[in-house]
Amino acid sequence: RDRIMLGPLVAAIDQGTSSTRFLVFNAKTAELLSHHQVEIKQSFPKEGWVEEDPKEILQSVYECMDKTCEKLTQLNIDISNIKAIGVTNQRETTLVWDKETGEPLYNAIVWLDLRTQSTVERLINKTPGRNKNHLKHKTGLPISTYFSAVKLRWLMDNVDEVSKAILSHRAMFGTIDSWLIWCLTGGKKGGVHCTDVTNASRTMLFNIHTMDWDPELCTYFGIPMEILPRVRSSSEIYGLMKSGCLTGIPISGCLGDQSAALVGQMCFQDGQAKNTYGTGCFLLRNTGPKPVMSDHGLLTTVAYKLGRDQPACYALEGSVAIAGAVVRWLKDNLGIIQTSSELEKLAAAVGTSYGCYFVPAFSGLYAPYWEPSARGIICGLTQFTNRSHLAFAALEAVCFQTRELMDAMNQDSGIPLTQLQVDGGMTSNRLLMQLQADILCIPVVKPSMPETTALGAAMAAGAAEGSAYGALTPMTSARSHLRSLSHRSTQRRVSSAMRAGRRPCRSP
Ligand code: ADP
Repeated sequence: RDRIMLGPLVAAIDQGTSSTRFLVFNAKTAELLSHHQVEIKQSFPKEGWVEEDPKEILQSVYECMDKTCEKLTQLNIDISNIKAIGVTNQRETTLVWDKETGEPLYNAIVWLDLRTQSTVERLINKTPGRNKNHLKHKTGLPISTYFSAVKLRWLMDNVDEVSKAILSHRAMFGTIDSWLIWCLTGGKKGGVHCTDVTNASRTMLFNIHTMDWDPELCTYFGIPMEILPRVRSSSEIYGLMKSGCLTGIPISGCLGDQSAALVGQMCFQDGQAKNTYGTGCFLLRNTGPKPVMSDHGLLTTVAYKLGRDQPACYALEGSVAIAGAVVRWLKDNLGIIQTSSELEKLAAAVGTSYGCYFVPAFSGLYAPYWEPSARGIICGLTQFTNRSHLAFAALEAVCFQTRELMDAMNQDSGIPLTQLQVDGGMTSNRLLMQLQADILCIPVVKPSMPETTALGAAMAAGAAEGSAYGALTPMTSARSHLRSLSHRSTQRRVSSAMRAGRRPCRSP
């Protein structure tokens, strides 16, 4: 049979906290042609600790690539049309490896991990006025267990292999993007050790004004700068794939997952915002070329820099640690559901939490509180409460947390959001989306193609200057994506209660 002629294709590796995906898009229409997804194991070796295996993560990337390419071949689509690959990843998750053996020296410490709580408290106690925002003027971030610098410090203080490798100049530090790009571009045989500005801006070692590693911050945390990856823009050729079915294809896009979703949702204008519901929940609002500091507990972060000579764009970010993770907890720890998708039916069976409230502060509370010592609570229980009420309260908890983020963002910017663009695994839960619209009192808008994070990374890769296929710019892609949305007219719009005239608005 004749091969289907589609023109150039762009691909994305989407390495999330709970799974890895590989996705291939038509570069002209942004249509998703094929993808594959593999779950990632998480280990919880001690209370509050969360780790993942870097080699399993790498293996999952190769497996997803192979399976996606097989599916494309079965569809009669020539995989040699794949011209660029973008990487998007769970941010902050920290690892150190040996550049001579290529071996990780410890598991990856996942962003949710709380082992650095006492270190963080000690650091804050040492600042003038016990100020958690002591480094915010440079980093845009509060001192918290969330960011990479404290996790790296823990590895240096507690893992002999790491401190020895640093002394013998064999250590490389990276977030998941750096680990994957280094491995995929050759690893110990000349792999490229780099990260992009969005991932770097989540380490607490990066100055968001100078857009480079900051020697003072590195001294503050006692981190040798030689182990840090080179910081690059989010859209340029970093290197070529050195193994697997896509050998020779350039890796030319790199964005932290929340930045990639912002790009994939086409939030290029100052004031545009999106909320992604994955393991955690992340509301980002584009603030244009100037970093805006929050007075209400939000982060200032680098949104994207789409090319070496392009200006950086910044965002205000509200981060919630536990969103989809609460669903996983109900499944794995309480066993009240067998699959995530069962939650909707269970909660819909009662349609109310019946006065039950769930605060899933399993990893402390992030925005706007930044309180690492907070812990989860379920209250308002009566003899009448059953697992359906608990399921409903868990969904409400995600919505109430988002409402807090939106209120903080509205107060910071002075211009209230009039609609919320959403994406992420949890958005397949229609009850959650309706509850969210009811609780925010604004429309919640979900694109027809839910893989916006991967699309953002693929767009950055396709737009890279000098890549084998350079014609795709984020804006042309944005236009075609939006066109394809309106053509299919499947964009879901969950009306706010006010508009739909259903329930009254609910307050947190
Ligand atoms: P990440 O990028 O953090 O890995 P994803 O965007 O892939 O996350 O979303 C996965 C999360 O969404 C999981 O925590 C899962 O429990 C949750 N999830 C998936 N489907 C549903 C559903 N139908 N209802 C509620 N939660 C869901």
